[in-house]
Amino acid sequence: MNLPPLDPPARILLGPGPSEASPRVLRAQALPLVGHLDPYFVQLMDETMNLLRQVFGTQNRLAIPVSGTGSAGMEAAFVNMLSPGDRVVVGVNGVFGERMCDVARRCGAQVHRVEAEWGQTLPLETIQSALRQHRPQVLALVHAETSTGALQPLEGLSEAAGETGALLLVDTVTSLGGAPVEVDRNGIDICYSGTQKCLSAPPGLAPITFSEVALARLKSRSTRVQSWYLDMSMIEKYWGGERLYHHTAPISAIYGLREALAVVLEEGLEARYLRHRRNAEMLWAGLEDLGLKLVVDRARRIPSLTTVYSPDGVAEQDIRKKLLERYGIEIGGGLGPFKGRVWRIGLMGESSTQRNILYLLAALRELL
Ligand SMILES: *Cc1c(COP(=O)(O)O)cnc(C)c1O
Repeated sequence: MNLPPLDPPARILLGPGPSEASPRVLRAQALPLVGHLDPYFVQLMDETMNLLRQVFGTQNRLAIPVSGTGSAGMEAAFVNMLSPGDRVVVGVNGVFGERMCDVARRCGAQVHRVEAEWGQTLPLETIQSALRQHRPQVLALVHAETSTGALQPLEGLSEAAGETGALLLVDTVTSLGGAPVEVDRNGIDICYSGTQKCLSAPPGLAPITFSEVALARLKSRSTRVQSWYLDMSMIEKYWGGERLYHHTAPISAIYGLREALAVVLEEGLEARYLRHRRNAEMLWAGLEDLGLKLVVDRARRIPSLTTVYSPDGVAEQDIRKKLLERYGIEIGGGLGPFKGRVWRIGLMGESSTQRNILYLLAALRELL
């Protein structure tokens, strides 16, 4: 058999993830392997934890990448914090809130949903009354709901959760590195993300951080975490001082993450948020110029993921297919109630450039 080397097509990734990775990140992933207990790697782990703390905006001791994609981060957050019979209030206004409910139920928790329409966010008062009614161990919310394009404000959540003794758990898969997350300032106890969205590394790792209060809750569990692989009390012994083998770290993926975090911090967090914001505004104006209607109110839009209605009488799938075939551009379609009605355009990390926006708008103008 004589198979030629892989040669994937050149694409412009403007969907809900993965985003484009910087060449610096891709080069790092191709570097020679070292062992997962090699002194070089141990030092790299420390460095990566430091970089993650800066990007998360936290002083938490535990800030590490979970082996697995963003959903592994979600699963790690819930399985470590919830024991059978615990109560959890989950904000549901899209696919990822639904996924949280599914994961929490599998932990044996009682799930109480607070819901909003797709494209809307959850009012603080609604969350507060659910907390008072159910007195949950955990309040879980999605910061940037990638299925709808709505950005949940984080102000006031930690005070509301604290008032009833709940820990605050937030999904920042689509926001981390693209919009302010500020774990400590916002009083988030458990926060996870993914590498392939605004951090612009390939998919495969889920950065996560736990506050001291969350770690204390983990220590005081009366039942063992039901997932061996995601048990943070064991993983902590590898990433923390003891360097005790748990599972083989995905070496190359961690090279890539280290490099991606370095790229993020070299640009500077504030400059990066501003770039995402300015480029999003340019896209929004361009889409409106084409006569298209955006799904989410301006004040609640995610800078890294825009949802826009496809025009009546236009086969939305057909447009996406042509964008990919003729222009090499990937955008996403709608999920759930938005299926067949909405496009999802990601401007995440490296993908968020004026050039990409101009090219996409020109392509859409031709196709429509
Ligand atoms: C993409 C995403 C996830 C899941 O991440 P995977 O890497 O696909 O497992 C979870 N939450 C949100 C908000 C996401 O956008």
